[in-house]
Amino acid sequence: MGRVALVTGGSRGIGEAISKALKAQGHEVAATYAGNDEKAAAFTEATGIKTYKWNVADYEASKAGIAQVEADLGPIDIVVANAGITRDAPFHKMTPDQWKDVIDTNLTGVFNTVHPVWPGMRDRGFGRIVVISSINGQKGQFAQVNYAATKAGDLGIIKSLAQEGAAKGITANAVCPGYIATEMVMAVPEKVREKIIGMIPAGRLGEPDEIARCVAFLTSDDAGFINGSTISANGGQFFV
Ligand code: NDP
Repeated sequence: MGRVALVTGGSRGIGEAISKALKAQGHEVAATYAGNDEKAAAFTEATGIKTYKWNVADYEASKAGIAQVEADLGPIDIVVANAGITRDAPFHKMTPDQWKDVIDTNLTGVFNTVHPVWPGMRDRGFGRIVVISSINGQKGQFAQVNYAATKAGDLGIIKSLAQEGAAKGITANAVCPGYIATEMVMAVPEKVREKIIGMIPAGRLGEPDEIARCVAFLTSDDAGFINGSTISANGGQFFV
């Protein structure tokens, strides 16, 4: 059944693959982005998926943006909170700004994205929420105290939302990707990347499509009894 889906950070990287996968499922997709106008325009040109620009760290901007999406496409039944950033530094060198930027985007950004759509989902008795967390929220990571805190926090969010939403037909789940071949990971120095690949039993980085397929399943009508769960997609690197 075709529904309206919102994918934050949906115009490139993992989000781009998610937007395309949800469109292929027959959904009307709105993909958001932060500032990369050129990439967003190319993405819309290639896919026909409409893009919207707002900062997920800003509650009022998120609320207004979501209202615009709903005015354009109709009530949002599927939310994929995917937008995320890294500001890595070993803890003794991590600045308060690096801490705050990541908390505001990866953690508060999830609140800002889900909160405005929640009442409508409750009223309609249906909702699918998926948060893109990370393997590093499950196990922690050197130089990522900020990032790991947000990604672990995202798991707390979905477990709590699952309990609040279940009786209203709303599910909230997470996908924890391992290392996926996107700009975020390709920006890591090659030597470090080779080291990372050496730690992945599959012997390779994951592909964005491999995360998108998890999201497509979790957002489907068939996944209605899966709630508060996490799919780890990491090539065997870490088990919970
Ligand atoms: P990318 O850096 O490739 O893309 C990030 C996307 O998020 C872009 O569309 C960007 O917009 C958007 N974005 C960033 N900040 C904001 C903001 N403040 N407001 C709105 N949009 C924003 O990231 P990935 O595709 O690699 O990662 C996607 C998600 O998956 C993230 O949450 C990340 O933490 C998580 N993840 C990634 C892994 C990986 O290996 N790549 C591993 C585990 C988790 P714009 O294009 O305008 O910059």
